[in-house]
Amino acid sequence: MSRFLSNRHASLDVYTPGEQPSDIQYIKLNTNESPFPPPNSIATVANNELEKLNLYPNPDGLRLLEKLAENYDVKPENVIIGNGSDELLAFSFLAFFDDGVAFPDITYGFYPVYAELYNIPYQQIPVRDDMTINVNDYTNIGKNVVIANPNAPTGIALELDEIEEIAKSNPNHVVLIDEAYVDFGGSSAVELTKKYDNLLVIHTYSKSRSMAGLRLGYAIGQEPIIQDLNKMKYSFNPYNVSRLSQVLGEAALNEEGYYREKHSEIIETREYAEKRLHELGFLTTDSRANFLFGKHPNIDGFKLYSELKQRGILIRQWNKPRISNYVRITVGTKEQMDLLLKAIIEILAERGKTYEKERNNPQYD
Ligand code: PMP
Repeated sequence: MSRFLSNRHASLDVYTPGEQPSDIQYIKLNTNESPFPPPNSIATVANNELEKLNLYPNPDGLRLLEKLAENYDVKPENVIIGNGSDELLAFSFLAFFDDGVAFPDITYGFYPVYAELYNIPYQQIPVRDDMTINVNDYTNIGKNVVIANPNAPTGIALELDEIEEIAKSNPNHVVLIDEAYVDFGGSSAVELTKKYDNLLVIHTYSKSRSMAGLRLGYAIGQEPIIQDLNKMKYSFNPYNVSRLSQVLGEAALNEEGYYREKHSEIIETREYAEKRLHELGFLTTDSRANFLFGKHPNIDGFKLYSELKQRGILIRQWNKPRISNYVRITVGTKEQMDLLLKAIIEILAERGKTYEKERNNPQYD
C-alpha cells in the first residue's frame, strides 16, 4: 500500500477472484466458466471487426441493445450493456443504494465489497441452516434488496412468485435480481420488469454463453431505471463495452440452439455428478446453477480443496463463517467430472486410513 491511498480505501476488504494459475494445466472447476468454447461462427465476426479497432465503439451498443431487446421481448430503452455483469452491479450500487441495501449472508462475495467501496450501509440476512433464503425476510423490508437467483454459491433458486412478492412489497426500493446462473434451471424475472418499475434484472455472457473472457453483461428494467444506470456509465466510462464484445455478443444471440444444447448437457452432468457425490457421502444443496455446493462429513473444505489442487484439479472453498466446510465445484464436461470423482474417491480412501490410525492412537483421544 502506498502512502497516497486514502484512509477510506486503505481498509477495503477486496473481492478475491478464483485462482487462474498458469504453472500447470489444471482441470478448472473453480470459477463457474463453461467447459465449452463459444460457437465457431463468432470467429469470422471477430475477424471482420479487427480492422475497425481504430474506431471507438458505439457507446450505447445500440445494435446489441436492439438484438437483446428482441430476444427478451422488451425495447432497447429497457436494456444497458456493461463490461461484465460486475460493472452493472457496481453501477447499480452506486446509483440506487446510498440509503442501504439488504442481501443474504451467504451470497455472491462482491455485494459487500461494492457496499464498502461506496460507503453503503448493508444488512446481511442469514439464510436458513439448509442455506435456503426465507422470502419473508425480504417482503416489506423497506430497503433496497439484491438477490442472486439462483443464489451463489449455493445454487438454490427462488420461485418467480417469491421474487414478485419481494418487488411488490417494496415499491419504493430497488430490487435487483442477479441472474448470472438462470439458464441452468432457474426462472427469469425479466417479464416481471414490465410490471414493476423497481425491479432490475442482471445477466451475464460469462457462464451460460461461454464468454467469460469477453467481459459482457446486461441489465433489463423499465426505462427510467435504465436511464439512471446510463447516468452512472456516462459519468464513469462511456466506452465500457469494446467493439469486439459488442459484435460477438450480438453474434452469440444467433446461436441460441448451440447454447441450449450445452445448457442441457451441463444440467445432465450436474445431476450425474451430484448423484455420484451423494453415493460417496456428500451432502449438497439443490443447485440450479452450473456448479455444485456440498460438504463431506470426513473431510473439511480446505483439506479437500488442497488435496484436489495437488492432483491438478481446482475447486473453490471459502474461509468464511457458515461455509468453510463446503466446497463449490463448477460443472465441467462429463470427462472432467469423472476425473474429479476418481480423485475424490482416492482422497476419501486415504482419509479413511488416517482416521483409522487416529482412532487407534491414544494421543488423539
Ligand atoms: N453475479 C454472480 C452471482 C456471479 O457469480 C458472478 C461471477 N463471478 C457475477 C455476477 C459476475 O459475472 P461477470 O462479471 O463475469 O459477468
